[in-house]
Parts: sequence; C-alpha cells; structure tokens
Amino acid sequence: MSKVVIIGAGGVGGVVTHKCAQLPEVFSEIVLASRTEEKCKAIAAQLDRPIRTAQVDADNVAELTALLEKEKPDLVINVALPYQDLTIMDACLAAGVDYMDTANYEPLDTAKFEYKWQWAYQEKFKEAGLTALLGSGFDPGATNVFTTWIAKHYFDEIHELDIIDVNGGDHGYPFATNFNPEINIREVTAECRHWENGDFVETPAMSKKASFTCPEEVGTYNIYRMYHEELESLVKHFPTLKRAQFWMSFGDNYLKHLEVLGNVGMTGIEPVEFNGQQIVPIQFLKTLLPDPSTLGPRTKGKTCIGCVVKGVKDGKEKIVYVYNIKDHQDCYKEVQSQAISYTTGVPAMIGAKMILEGKWKQPGVWNMEQFDPDPFMEDMNKYGLPWNVVELDSFDLDG
Ligand code: NDP
Repeated sequence: MSKVVIIGAGGVGGVVTHKCAQLPEVFSEIVLASRTEEKCKAIAAQLDRPIRTAQVDADNVAELTALLEKEKPDLVINVALPYQDLTIMDACLAAGVDYMDTANYEPLDTAKFEYKWQWAYQEKFKEAGLTALLGSGFDPGATNVFTTWIAKHYFDEIHELDIIDVNGGDHGYPFATNFNPEINIREVTAECRHWENGDFVETPAMSKKASFTCPEEVGTYNIYRMYHEELESLVKHFPTLKRAQFWMSFGDNYLKHLEVLGNVGMTGIEPVEFNGQQIVPIQFLKTLLPDPSTLGPRTKGKTCIGCVVKGVKDGKEKIVYVYNIKDHQDCYKEVQSQAISYTTGVPAMIGAKMILEGKWKQPGVWNMEQFDPDPFMEDMNKYGLPWNVVELDSFDLDG
C-alpha cells in the first residue's frame, strides 16, 4: 500500500496514471500534479477510481517541496519534461521521498542530454537513504532491461548492441510528433553518436540509414542511426560492448518537413525578437503542432521496439533479439492514448512498482540495468507489454 505523486499530465502522464490506477493493491493513493491542473482533472475523469489532483510549478523547488511535505508520498514519478529533473530531485531530497523519471536531464538552453548532472546526485541520495531510478520509460527503460536480461540469460560476454525503435503507426497528419514536440525535435536533430571500440563516434544527424524488417509482419521500414541516452549508461555498465548503436524509423514525410523547418530556422532553441517580443522558434512551433496526447483516436498501426545483442556463450558466438510489438488502437481502447505514450507509461508504472515493492529499492542514483531484470520482464508480460525472444542466425544493418 503506497502513495505516489505523479508530476506531469501530458501523453505519458495520462498513461502512467491509468496504469497505476489499475493496481490499487500497489498504488493505494495517487496524486496527479502538473502546471495546468485542468489537464490533471481531465485525466482523473477518465478513471474508474478516484485520485486527487494538484497544481505545481516543477521548476520551483520550494513549491515542489511544500507539495511533497503536505502529501508525504512514498515515491515521485516524474513524467514532466527533462528540464525539471534536477528541481524534482532536489525537492525529493528536501522532503525525503524516492524519485523516478523517464528521461535524463537536459538544460533548456543547450540541446544536450547527458547523465552527468543526475549521476552527480549519487552521494546525496545515498546519504539520505533514498532511491532514484533514472529512465524508466521504453527507450530508455525497457531497452536497458532487455539488454540486461539478454546478457544475464544468454551470454558470458556481450559485444554488440543495436537498439531498434520502429513506429509503424500513422496518425494521418502531414507532420506531428508522438511525444513532446520540443523534446522530440531536439533529440532527432542532434548530432549522431554511437559507441565504437571504447569511444563515442560523432556523425551528422540522420547520415546513416538502413532497412529493417520487423518480426510478426509489422513491415519493413527505413531506420536511421541516432544518439539516444541509454547508450551512455549501457556502455558504462557493460564495458565488454565493442559497439552500441540506436536506430529509429522515420517516414519520408516526417524527414522532409523536419528538413524544411530546420532550414528556415523553426527548430532553433535561441530566442528571436518578433514584434518586440522574444520568442523561441521551437516553442512557437510546438504551439502549432498537434498535441501528442490527442493522437490516440487517429493513430493506426504498430510499434516494434527491441534490442539485438551479439556476444559469446561457452566460446560460441550468438545473436539474440528481444522485442515488444504494440498496436496503437489497442492502447487507445485501454487507456485513451497512442502506443508511444503507452510504451513509455507502462514501464514507468512498472519501475515505480519495483521501487515500492522493494525489489529495486537501494539508496543512490541508478540506471535500469543496475537492477535484476527478471521481475521487470515478468511485469511487462503481465501489464500490457508482452515481449518475445528469438535467436538469429545472422544480423547486419550495414547491408
Ligand atoms: P507532454 O509535453 O505531453 O507532457 C509534459 C507534461 O509536463 C505537461 O502536462 C506539462 O504541463 C508538464 N510540465 C511541463 N513543465 C512543467 C513545469 N514546470 N511544472 C509542472 N508541470 C510541467 O510530454 P510527454 O508526456 O510526451 O513526455 C513526458 C516525458 O516523458 C518527457 O520527459 C519525455 O522526454 C519522456 N519520454 C520518455 C520516453 C521513453 O521511452 N523513455 C518516450 C517518450 C517520452 P502543461 O500541460 O501545462 O504544458
């Protein structure tokens, strides 16, 4: 029996709240807090059990601390934006509450996400006897757990990792992002980095393309190599990895729009003056684009996200692929959301459950791969993200 405060009432916040509400035996009390309380109330109204809502500015440590001291939760689930990670961690330390998020900290004025800011809280959380779990979404999140589970059950040593995130869904808009547009566009337009023989190698964004055929007839898609935050923690915690890459599918239409928007300066993060007012182009663009939390009813098709790991067992080379396939419309029927928010929100609920049940509770700041993957993998099968494992004879994205 535990109480959680969920911060953030966007696409992911809606799914986490639904999923926690489905498990009253674990999440006996839920408070959903965000900048705009109306959005929390709209989510609360979709549930068949009562939860409380609150207004909070998560950039303000004093305001957050006051909320946590009043509510006295066992855990904060942070599904606001990456900009708020450090203020929410500070408030958790001040109020003595465990912490969890789904995306690593990124300063508002630099499009650069790295774990260094959050890893720097290690000693503070340890001394306070509090747990902080970082990146419990799908990628990062389930992908870290997949890698760890494969390494634990199939290999003596792992050497190569390819994380492949395919969204075979279509929302019918010429251009829309499946999660927060600002965060999504900052991520996609960033310089690519992948791990190769002990170092990160930089290449221009979207400069490496491959074709990938998903299992179970989901289809064949163009995927592009890009940097993703779990690479940083995975190569640290699996030092035998010689190569680690992250791939994501993009449609030609999405890429064409993104290129034009970039060329005309609409994806910029520096303020520009317009009619005597300072505006940030990417923030203005966000106000024009469809809200990702409204894409649910119109998105059709499936996602397929998984990890291909090469390594050795008893001196023999092997290749193992673990993946989850999720249908956008099934997600909408269950929690009124498309599959991108769903595949993030379910691992967020499971990560929270791991902490509250004491399975992943340990003072300090942790990435997902630092805990036993087995109970998390079991819960993915139980709570809406069943996975499959296959051994492959060959695998080569270089063509
Ligand atoms: P949304 O933009 O839909 O929602 C963000 C929510 O946070 C909104 O309700 C917003 O409030 C609220 N918020 C923003 N700033 C503040 C603030 N200062 N104080 C209080 N609340 C605030 O984003 P998503 O739901 O799509 O994404 C949520 C998080 O999940 C992001 O960090 C994203 O990076 C992460 N994510 C992780 C994935 C993974 O697999 N690991 C995949 C997809 C997303 P308001 O409504 O007022 O704007």
